[in-house]
Amino acid sequence: MKITCPHCKSQDVVKRGFFQTATNGKQQRYYCKSCNKKFIEQTPFYRMRNSPNKITLCLDLFYKGVSTRQIQNHLQAFYPHNASWVSIYQWIVKYSKKISQFTSNLKLQVGKEMQIDEVEYKTKGKQSWFIDSIDTTTRFMVASNYVKSRGQNELKQVLKLAKKKTDNQIETITSDGFLAYSKAVNLAFGYYKIKRGEIKHKVVTQLKKEGFNIMIERMHNSLRQRTKTFRGFHGSIESANAIMRGFEIYYNFIRPHLALNGKTPSDLATDIKLSENNKWLELINLSNKKD
Ligand SMILES: [Zn+2]
Repeated sequence: MKITCPHCKSQDVVKRGFFQTATNGKQQRYYCKSCNKKFIEQTPFYRMRNSPNKITLCLDLFYKGVSTRQIQNHLQAFYPHNASWVSIYQWIVKYSKKISQFTSNLKLQVGKEMQIDEVEYKTKGKQSWFIDSIDTTTRFMVASNYVKSRGQNELKQVLKLAKKKTDNQIETITSDGFLAYSKAVNLAFGYYKIKRGEIKHKVVTQLKKEGFNIMIERMHNSLRQRTKTFRGFHGSIESANAIMRGFEIYYNFIRPHLALNGKTPSDLATDIKLSENNKWLELINLSNKKD
């Protein structure tokens, strides 16, 4: 990564000593020969008043199902400078987005069948949906979106993204009998490919659903458990979406999967092999390198 001066964007910079920060330790200091100003490198935690460990601890607790207010209580008991649940919420949104920009561009090695389904959310009488698709071989959540309605367009959007990311590896798309799927699958994967049998849309009716969709249903159960504390996603649909991106990251990269012998879906579907204990921090640092 090339170091750029934050003041004038010049790359004509040299190292000049170190700068001690309270929360991020010793940081390399630079001197810009174009504008004669000094600066420190902007790490992912630049100008954050809290340490990377504390921030990633909050992310980890949150995706394990602890509410932002409970995390705030925890910090009050164990850290001299605590943080409010609002800051915690902002960290979750900020770093989920950051990691997602990196993970959503990874090449995937998946199997031949993908399942798609939705989870309904009701908050203060308003409906919203989390639409997601999972590769049945690696259990990797290939694509997802958090939306206000589950029409054909919203389903198509998730299917198109899944198609792009799996790059011709998928031959069967399985869904329940919800009518909008048929058209959405046609639109996303191509009517003629389906007519010629190159892509198969397998529809499973409610009666059979229990056996078939067990994989995605199980994931949804754990999703519901972890998101019951979300309390209507304070703020915009955009931040709600970032929070769900974070869940996708947690599910794909962090949580060991029992059915995969303790591996994560990303161990099987991507080239990313996380080795550090703090996987959140490892992912944030990886995503920074790719900037
Ligand atoms: Zn400069």
